[in-house]
Amino acid sequence: MAMQAPLTNTSTAPSVAVVGGGPAGLMAAETLAEAGCRVDVYDAMPSVGRKFLLAGKGGLNLTHAEGIEAFLARYGARRGALEPMLRSFGPESLRAWAAGLGIQTFVGTSGRVFPRDLKAAPLLRAWLHRLRVAGVRFHMRHRWLGWSTDGALRFAAPQGELAIGPVAVVLALGGGSWVRLGSDGAWVPLLEGRGVLVAPLVPSNCGFDVGRTAAGPAAGGWSEHLRSRFAGAPLKPVALRFDEAGFARQGEFVVTESGIEGSLVYAASAAIRDAIAAKGEARVELDLLPGRDAASVLREVMHARGPRSLATHLKSRLGITGVKAALLHELLPRDALNDGVRLAAALKALPLRLARPRPLDEAISSAGGVPFEALDAGLMLRALPGVFCAGEMLDWEAPTGGYLLTACFATGRAAGQGVLAWLASTHKA
Ligand SMILES: Cc1cc2nc3c(=O)[nH]c(=O)nc-3n(C[C@H](O)[C@H](O)[C@H](O)COP(=O)(O)OP(=O)(O)OC[C@H]3O[C@@H](n4cnc5c(N)ncnc54)[C@H](O)[C@@H]3O)c2cc1C
Repeated sequence: MAMQAPLTNTSTAPSVAVVGGGPAGLMAAETLAEAGCRVDVYDAMPSVGRKFLLAGKGGLNLTHAEGIEAFLARYGARRGALEPMLRSFGPESLRAWAAGLGIQTFVGTSGRVFPRDLKAAPLLRAWLHRLRVAGVRFHMRHRWLGWSTDGALRFAAPQGELAIGPVAVVLALGGGSWVRLGSDGAWVPLLEGRGVLVAPLVPSNCGFDVGRTAAGPAAGGWSEHLRSRFAGAPLKPVALRFDEAGFARQGEFVVTESGIEGSLVYAASAAIRDAIAAKGEARVELDLLPGRDAASVLREVMHARGPRSLATHLKSRLGITGVKAALLHELLPRDALNDGVRLAAALKALPLRLARPRPLDEAISSAGGVPFEALDAGLMLRALPGVFCAGEMLDWEAPTGGYLLTACFATGRAAGQGVLAWLASTHKA
């Protein structure tokens, strides 16, 4: 194994390694480079920011424009830990930072903030250019393997295994979803091996498999009819209620091969996931007619239908067709379908059992990770002085809506500042 010190120039500036070139790592690198550190970014993939680029595919939702109190509340139990960082570098700072890269942003419907062209690539391109100009060096295809016995960082690199000894390191290795984009959670045992208790990575903003339905197989899952005809079909508008978590919201989601996914499901996913972990399943209710009150639905269902079929009746009186009609047949026993009062009630509160979250790899983000209790206020691991953590690998979660990226940027910046404060306090700067 070659021992390679990155201190190859004559500068006396401290050398800091950033491992992981996602938004959190790049923001840490920028903060450090601006302060005069020599910064080396290492990433296992052939290029940085792959998940960030994917996030831009459907429109890069950078942050959210709601008031700061509502914004902070999105981080739930971890609000307290993240608040100082989000107040220091929150939605407005992020928009100003993007503007500094020549990327203007706009507030879309529902307050979500996007780059004007919706894309991630121009922002990433401009950012990487600025980082290179600031002296940041990039080392691609460098997979971090942990520490050698003498405390150096070990990497598997194209030229073989090497070790480096920076004065500080920021780990920004991401969560455990979408492994093919680089974040595979392989860092968990590396930190655990050094005495850091890591909360297991679990899916967040994820879809779910359905449990047993009235028409489906005994083992659970959709019937062949629903799966083959409606997998991929969007439900909108629809409301989802998960009473035990006090969740009730209108939105949209899609029926999948084995269950449900989409923005409305993601919004409730943390509570549903936790309920399944505690009880084995979660029961949600769907309101297929969120724009109508229960009394008017009952009135329309009970309207004389003469010789018309139930399907024609529901279509003409209430506009229930396609996947919504199919879900009624999937989830309601036949006697309920034939009972107007029960059918009307089900149109407003159709019970659906959810058996398990989809695998972590499919999730938009991960919950779990390095707990804030293991870190000091500068995001340095108490057990490993000089080792800082940032981004999705920290133990927090938030819904989609720009909250994920905002906290990744904010914690990346905080970790960079944490390094600077630590260097100053240890007289290494
Ligand atoms: C489909 C999709 C859409 C999304 N859309 C949005 C959105 O619109 N808005 C939003 O706010 N969020 C969105 N997100 C979430 C957001 O992209 C992530 O939360 C964010 O990228 C996490 O940033 P990070 O820097 O912590 O980690 P990552 O972006 O995952 O970066 C981690 C980096 O570490 C590297 N790495 C990992 N292990 C090693 C190792 N051992 N050695 C070296 N390098 C390593 C990886 O290669 C990777 O480059 C989306 C996610 C997905 C999957």
